[in-house]
Amino acid sequence: MKAKLLLLAILFALTACGQTSRNHQVNKPASQQADESIRFADYFEDKTMRLDFYHCGNATEETYFFDELKEEPYFAGSYYALRDSFNYGNQRFVLIDKASGREIYSFHYCTLWGEWQCTPEARTTSLGMPESVVFPYPKHDAIAQIWSRGNPHNPDVKKLHGMQPWVLKFEYEIKADNYFVRGFSPIYETQDVHVVGDSHTCLDIVLIPEGYTEGEREQFVRDCEYFASEFFRFEPWTSNEQRVNMRLVWAPSAESGVSIPAVGKWRNTAVRANYFTFDSERYQMTYDFQTVRDIAGHTPYDYIYILTNSDKYGGGGIYNFYGVGAGHDTHGTSGRVHVHEFGHQMLGLGDEYVEIGNTTSDQYDPAVEPWEANLTTKVDVSRKPWAQHQLPEDSLHGKSLPEGGGYLEHGIWRPYEHCLMNTLAYPFCPVCLQAVIDYLNYITK
Ligand SMILES: [Zn+2]
Repeated sequence: MKAKLLLLAILFALTACGQTSRNHQVNKPASQQADESIRFADYFEDKTMRLDFYHCGNATEETYFFDELKEEPYFAGSYYALRDSFNYGNQRFVLIDKASGREIYSFHYCTLWGEWQCTPEARTTSLGMPESVVFPYPKHDAIAQIWSRGNPHNPDVKKLHGMQPWVLKFEYEIKADNYFVRGFSPIYETQDVHVVGDSHTCLDIVLIPEGYTEGEREQFVRDCEYFASEFFRFEPWTSNEQRVNMRLVWAPSAESGVSIPAVGKWRNTAVRANYFTFDSERYQMTYDFQTVRDIAGHTPYDYIYILTNSDKYGGGGIYNFYGVGAGHDTHGTSGRVHVHEFGHQMLGLGDEYVEIGNTTSDQYDPAVEPWEANLTTKVDVSRKPWAQHQLPEDSLHGKSLPEGGGYLEHGIWRPYEHCLMNTLAYPFCPVCLQAVIDYLNYITK
């Protein structure tokens, strides 16, 4: 995976790896079969519960350790988009009402730990990362579950980016009368960047500063305004500007700048991000997701994007986790990078680019249909909504689909030649565009 991130000049990977699987069946928790609608007010208060835990293991094991429950003041999600059936991602969070056994809330996501699991280090070391999930605050006793894509040949080994059956990895009972749920005490100021509507019916992005000191607040505000102006230059965001809110949390760092380990540069910063994540120079991430959440919780949010006090090319974005990008635009590309990363972050769009000479991948198996909306191995292309109506008939099973994507030259296809998920010089292809719109319609309904 490191090589994937190193080789390409402009794009970053949403990465993965694992073992071979030929099983394309998706097993869902029994409770998800229920079809009746869930009334938000019957089960939830209009605020957030956060479940902190440690995501641990190595190349062949994945375990979770409970940490703490927390209360956060805002719930920015939709009252109606409570159960996610898109089936993207490598993890699935489910909340079950204990009394009725009904699934009352669910969503999918990916993690940095899941990427780390594919690195050589994971073959010789076990490691835990602080993680958390957030969900509307349950009124009654509930069961929280985390499911992971499993491999039918070895349930403890993940094959990422494929349609494997879900395996239950973690379960925790939430008691409605638990007075150890930690309360929230705000310590940071917040500020509107682009606020146009109610957070329950808008997509809400919180912008978090990394490496800006007390004296650099104006610079951070300028970088947030730049982020917003660039974001809305691209479709579908131009047409949907009235459905997107952006707010910043002013969380200054003790020291200015960013950490670049390979040149011995370390800074004491708000979320402890650094370049060279997994030894890939431009992969700028943080292991400390709980600290990121501590800052984000000051304002309503659906998505977290971290702007770093840097113009060094770099960043990353993980589905329903967080995104990172260099805050300043000195090369004229940062805005496009932000929108590209947000495509990873919002719905897990895959990278459509090819690394020349790359014939094998830890992330995509030509025998397995990937879950990404915009890549196919043609194993089960009919699963893609676009296969039916957005491509010419002869592209469906055939030759005119551009070959190459997901870093591989062969065995994986992308729906169109050009796309922002391939090269920054182009807008989203029609398939990515529609996938973003479909997901946006779901989370804002
Ligand atoms: Zn595309």
